[in-house]
Amino acid sequence: MTESRPAVDMEKLVSLCRRRGFIFPSSEIYGGLSSCWDYGPLGVELKRNIKQAWWRAVVQQRDDMVGLDASILMHPQVWQASGHVEGFSDPLVECKSCHKRWRSDELEGDKCPDCGGELTEPKLFNLMFKTFIGPVEDEASVVYLRPETAQGMFVNFENVVNTTRKRLPFGIAQIGKSFRNEVTTGNFIFRCREFEQMEIEFFVKPGTDKQWFDYWVEERLNWYVSLGIRKENLKLRQHTKEELAHYARECYDINYLYPMGWAEMEGIANRGDFDLVQHAKFSGKGLSYYDEETKEHIVPYIIEPSAGVDRTALAVLCDAYDEDVADGEPRVLLHLHPSIAPIKVAVLPLSRKETLAPLSKEVYAELRQQWMTSFDEAQSIGRRYRRQDEIGTPFCVTIDFQSLEDKQVTIRERDSLRQIRVPIEGLRATLQAKLDGEDLFVLPEGGKIWKGGETQ
Ligand code: ATP
Repeated sequence: MTESRPAVDMEKLVSLCRRRGFIFPSSEIYGGLSSCWDYGPLGVELKRNIKQAWWRAVVQQRDDMVGLDASILMHPQVWQASGHVEGFSDPLVECKSCHKRWRSDELEGDKCPDCGGELTEPKLFNLMFKTFIGPVEDEASVVYLRPETAQGMFVNFENVVNTTRKRLPFGIAQIGKSFRNEVTTGNFIFRCREFEQMEIEFFVKPGTDKQWFDYWVEERLNWYVSLGIRKENLKLRQHTKEELAHYARECYDINYLYPMGWAEMEGIANRGDFDLVQHAKFSGKGLSYYDEETKEHIVPYIIEPSAGVDRTALAVLCDAYDEDVADGEPRVLLHLHPSIAPIKVAVLPLSRKETLAPLSKEVYAELRQQWMTSFDEAQSIGRRYRRQDEIGTPFCVTIDFQSLEDKQVTIRERDSLRQIRVPIEGLRATLQAKLDGEDLFVLPEGGKIWKGGETQ
């Protein structure tokens, strides 16, 4: 099945996301707001699952990481120290005829790509959103919406060391919103003005930084594979000396093959001691670490894997999208990994007849205790299966008239269309095993193959 999947067309994906309630344009009834998006009922689940999977892998399952949730508004000096006030800008040109703005480093020729008009000289445009804190709107009250979550972790370095007694090497992880007044936007949720990041700042002893950098590059790449993204659609790209950011000693991007081509999904940088040195200088606080072994104060180096929730969501959706023929009918389906599928199980009574309702509702109520579960009794069973396939629900549980007698239900697997029939008692345990990756045809006691096996 993997080989036959078509490369997804962005328009088809945007339309599916809109139609099924994954992602809507922000403030749509007012015509939308450029490069801002709202995650609908299914999108919010997908995003939560991605964030949860990240948090589990980088915080919960490790003893060298702790979490943080710093505020979006920070002291303005943070952005002086980080270099964002000075240098967080893109070169911008404007078309003299249609007044559309472009990033000059992304343009091929010297004319406006839209109307062919003449362009102005490039001007540097700072990407940070400015606002005012308190009632007076003057220069002294300017604050910025953070353009990255990283700085919250640097400025809390000492707080974390003092309160957790973590010893090097250790990391701080954070998930949160960031804002950039991007010049070029588009490609759906790939480049937004408001987006969410999942960032790690991993503090290490100088001299061990190269080894930890390599470790994190591999670790992060494997994480995307664990979400079900195909390896052939992932690629590492090393930054050349010329493009390295001023603070970085080494940097790799994890790129994904999006519909518009290879593009960055995560950046991993060896930032050396730049951040702690800068913040020590600007704040006047000595941000060093006392090494018990050598009895010396050292400034740790930082390895930063910085990922985007929205770009990960776009990648998993692109990677999961498929079209095939099931039971003689064309269908669209999302091969989402069970860990990130918005709905894990759908409960479908075979018919709307009232006799099926009590048992169906009972099964539904039971499964909801454990997973996001949906209940659907409208239209034919085939149609309902396809509705679930299109949103990536891994399993459907069907209750039929025989279920009233034998207290068994069928479980249908999204990708293979295979079905088994299993006792309602123990259904939760059976589904859990299947969601964890057990083959569908490994049967619980009393279960049998229903469809798709040799012995059906
Ligand atoms: P690009 O070159 O594509 O603008 P960047 O190199 O500026 O990206 P970083 O500053 O390294 O991005 O940010 C880390 C991660 O945050 C990115 O890999 C991406 O996943 C996410 N990210 C950054 N900017 C945006 C944005 N405008 N919209 C959505 N996600 C973003």
